[in-house]
Amino acid sequence: MREQAVSLAYLVASILFIMCLRGLSSPEQGRRGIFLGELGMLIAVVATLFNAEIISFEWILAGLILGSLIGTAISLRIPMTQMPERIALSHAFGGLATSLVGIAEFHRVRDITAQLATDAITVAQAGHGLTRLEMGALGFEVFLGSLTFTGSLMAFGKLQGFITGAPVTWKGQNLMNFAAFGGAIVLLVYQVIFLAEAPQWMFFTMCGTGFALGVLAVLPIGGADMPVVISLLNSYAGLAACATGFALRSNILIISGALDGSSGLLLSLLMSKAMNRSFANVLFGAFGTGDSSGVTALGAGPARPFNDATIEDAAAVLAASQTVIIVPGYGMAVSQAQHAVRDLAAALEKNGTEVKYAIHPVAGRMPGHMNVLLAEANVPYDALFDLDMINDDFARTDAVIVVGANDVVNPGAKTDTKSPIYGMPVFNVEQARSVIVLKRSMNTGFAGVENELFFLPNTMMVLGDAKKTLISLFGAIKDDH
Ligand code: NAP
Repeated sequence: MREQAVSLAYLVASILFIMCLRGLSSPEQGRRGIFLGELGMLIAVVATLFNAEIISFEWILAGLILGSLIGTAISLRIPMTQMPERIALSHAFGGLATSLVGIAEFHRVRDITAQLATDAITVAQAGHGLTRLEMGALGFEVFLGSLTFTGSLMAFGKLQGFITGAPVTWKGQNLMNFAAFGGAIVLLVYQVIFLAEAPQWMFFTMCGTGFALGVLAVLPIGGADMPVVISLLNSYAGLAACATGFALRSNILIISGALDGSSGLLLSLLMSKAMNRSFANVLFGAFGTGDSSGVTALGAGPARPFNDATIEDAAAVLAASQTVIIVPGYGMAVSQAQHAVRDLAAALEKNGTEVKYAIHPVAGRMPGHMNVLLAEANVPYDALFDLDMINDDFARTDAVIVVGANDVVNPGAKTDTKSPIYGMPVFNVEQARSVIVLKRSMNTGFAGVENELFFLPNTMMVLGDAKKTLISLFGAIKDDH
């Protein structure tokens, strides 16, 4: 009876996980999706606590309290701009937990196998030793879990600046990594074939290779590509959890791990596509090595003239505009300007101006970054438009306000074949009658390349912190009417 109730609870939890992913595919349903996912996880955890094999709850309770305290403290302190680092850290802990569970299970089952061999216990008392399928799943789990642990720590370190964000490369690096990967697979296959007869060092060498590969595989990837790597490591953590499910015969782990693994992989592919990069290029291309000979970073050449505009200049253009498109980017997140953006938009709408928001798939530092910030400021979802939906509108628009965006509005991505971001789909902002760019300096954005938009005759650069500039613009527009 208890087993059936637990299975039913797992089924409900699995359905809630699927509904969670469904909800996360649209901003309107996002919050509900998160709630359903949390509910599913609560049900799964509580149902697991009814497992008949649990003989004492002290350690579980201690872990639950400690983990909840640390998780809550970290989440409350981390700003939105550092969310990728926060996610990387979570994956590192997830990977380590998976790996440790696998190592413990390996020891447990090996002990049983050894005792069965000496007739110290019977199959009826302890069950069979490890099957080939379970050994394969266990090895896969420990290898991927270890790789995810060190890989995620490396991604965290690169984003936080503890480790250089530049790709660290050397000759024959990819070959060396593939050889290490191949070696670990050979060890695993041997253990699957010979089970308990395989020497123990093979298991631990495979595990150590996983830890080493996490470091080696992330070293050659530039800090710029870390969000894609984090999403991929998320996928590995999911696959490791799925393998744990096979080893421990837990359906909920198999289902949730498979969902996590496939959604993480799909997200990584979508992010690469939005940057017009192949997946292989992200993982092995050492993007950001400076191999962009035709591209000059700002400050490298002589200073170029640009239209250094005042708040009053920009306010006058906006007051005379019938249609305005706001393009937010990473600078909006840094400056936490989302509320100021909404206030300015409301003031413009009050004057009869039509205001739309253009949201680029890789604006900011993680997928949906801009959507989350604008939702927090209660900007209505129907005012947000994706790249494909709005790109043709710029040519018919009076004014564009670029709030801390750079790479996603760089026209060079369409024309400069030597640019590292060549081919990345970008907004056609330069086609609008006037472009007002809010940023602090003439510095480059994430990809480190000069942006021709800033020097065009129809572009006004209003330099300063985006939030402060928006508040001043809001004041100027209100005073005008
Ligand atoms: P961006 O190219 O990184 O440019 C952001 C701009 O914001 C900078 O040029 C900076 O200029 C400005 N800024 C910073 N702080 C500011 C402040 N307080 N006030 C005003 N401006 C400020 O940003 P983006 O256009 O959003 O492009 C995103 C980039 O991230 C793309 O290259 C994309 O490929 C990459 N990426 C994104 C994701 C993702 O999932 N979203 C994942 C991987 C990579 P100043 O310093 O002069 O102010």
